[in-house]
Formats: sequence, structure tokens, C-alpha cells
Amino acid sequence: MRKLKQLIGQASAAPFYQRKLAMISAGASSSLKAFTQKAPTTTLEELIAEKRATGDPYSSRWNKDRAPLVVFQLEYDSETSLYIGLGREELAGYAEALRRCWSLLGLRRGDGVGIFDYGTSPVSYLASSAFTPYLRRGAADALGCVVICNDGGANMSRRAVEIIKYVRPRILFLRSDCLHPFALEVEKESISLSDYTGALVAVENEAVLSTADREAYEKRLAVRIYRMLRIDAAMFLAVECPRCRLLHTWQDLFLVESPAQDNNEGANPGPTPLVITNWFAKSCPAIRYVSQVKATLEPAGCPRGPKDVRIAA
Ligand SMILES: [Zn+2]
Repeated sequence: MRKLKQLIGQASAAPFYQRKLAMISAGASSSLKAFTQKAPTTTLEELIAEKRATGDPYSSRWNKDRAPLVVFQLEYDSETSLYIGLGREELAGYAEALRRCWSLLGLRRGDGVGIFDYGTSPVSYLASSAFTPYLRRGAADALGCVVICNDGGANMSRRAVEIIKYVRPRILFLRSDCLHPFALEVEKESISLSDYTGALVAVENEAVLSTADREAYEKRLAVRIYRMLRIDAAMFLAVECPRCRLLHTWQDLFLVESPAQDNNEGANPGPTPLVITNWFAKSCPAIRYVSQVKATLEPAGCPRGPKDVRIAA
């Protein structure tokens, strides 16, 4: 409750939320349930409209009393570019989410990690303090891993295969849209991928590789593939657990709602859009952001993280 009150207090320093939160009754911060019933949601369309109307690069979500330390363009195919600003708290909390994703995948001290993704992807820029100014501890720094990063364009697939061959990373993270060109290069080189890496992780913003596609690529490449979900507008990360094969995320970092499910006690309404509230994004809040990812929330209880939030997508 303290966290919720704090978040609402801080959000009112951002013009976008100041207006939104003025619409909710005072009772919305009285309990988490009241919050999820009464606090307004935010959609990508609203962020786009706000950017267009005001010209503010952060869609008026940035706390007007502070200045961002780093700024990234968000990866959405919208007619106007959207940006997020990150301060120290955003960098630290977001990198902690990535560290937990790596940890769940079994990465440990001394492991090599390859990243085949854009520099504006949090999977890249949160990996190491060497990549991003003001990031004190990236996932690799925290876990003692050695990380190598290559731009994630499909035309760079040959180089990604070279990286696999010479660096032999325990895990290679790559964009879902690079899976096919990467697989073509692997086939051209006639190498057995499992001789060079332990697993691939397919990453996407506001989308998840289908389990059918995952299985098809696992068969084609003869290597384990895990899926990772980014919801960049809410600074959210979740990753597929090697044990239960559901996506795990963490309730001390994010509040994850599946509203139709929450309102249909007992009934199964099927997958609905995930709604994310970010607890650590204090200067650039994300409150009840309605993502484009349809999923269902599963009960906690995986041995690999008994309290973790689990998502079937
Ligand atoms: Zn699990």
C-alpha cells in the first residue's frame, strides 16, 4: 500500500498522469483491488496521441521536476516516434528485471552471453554498464557473465553465426524476426548449433513467439529455444522458464493484471491483454499500461521461483 501511494504521488509530477489520476476517486489508492478497479488504463494509442498533441517526446510521462539520464526511442511501428527517459531508479530496476531473466535461464559467473538485438532494446542496453552511461550494474556485471553484443539486423545474421562459432556463448539472445535469417545462415554453414551454444532466447517487444513456432525452430535448429517478452512502454520483462515453460516475472517489480480473468472468478475467458503497472519507474511512470500481448495468468508455484508471477502466452 505504501508502494501504491508512493507511485500515485510520484506519477502526479508527470502531466500525463496528473490529468489521468485526477479522474480517479480518492479511494483508488485505498487497496490494490480498488486501484485495479478504479485507476484508468493507458494504451499505446493514447501515448501516440499525447506525443502528437503536445510534441513532448515522452508523451508527457516524464516527471517534470527531474531530467532523464538516458533516453531511448521505443520500438513501435507508430507514425510518430515515442521515447522513454530513464533515471537512476529506472536503470537499476529495469536491469534487475533483466538480471532475474538471465538467472532463471541458468546463467552464472563466467558464462558467455551473446546478444543479437538493436542497441535500443533493453535486452542490449541493460546487459552491461559498458553499454549504457549511468547504468551502475547491468545483468552481466551483477552475475559475472561475459557479454558480447551485435546489432540485430537480419542482414547481420552471418556475423551472429560467426559470434556463435568463435565466442561460444552459453545463451544467444536474438530478436524473433531474426530467427529465420539466422537459421538460414546456420544451415548454409552446416554447423550443429548445439556444439556452440546451449540455447537461444527469442525476444520481441509486445509479442511472443507462438509455442508452435518455438517448437518448429527447436526442431529445425536442434537447440532449446526460450521466449522472452518485452513491453518497452512499461519497462517490463518476462522470460520463459526452462522448468515449467511459462513466462516468469516478478511482483515486487511489476503489477501484472489480466482484467477479464480477474473479473470472471472461476470462468476461463481465454487470453486477454496483459496490463502492466511498473513499481520502479518513478520518473517515467507506467500505470496500468494495456499491452498488445494476449495471455493468461497462471497460479504461482514453480519450483524455480515459487513466488514468481507466471504467464501463459
Ligand atoms: Zn517455471
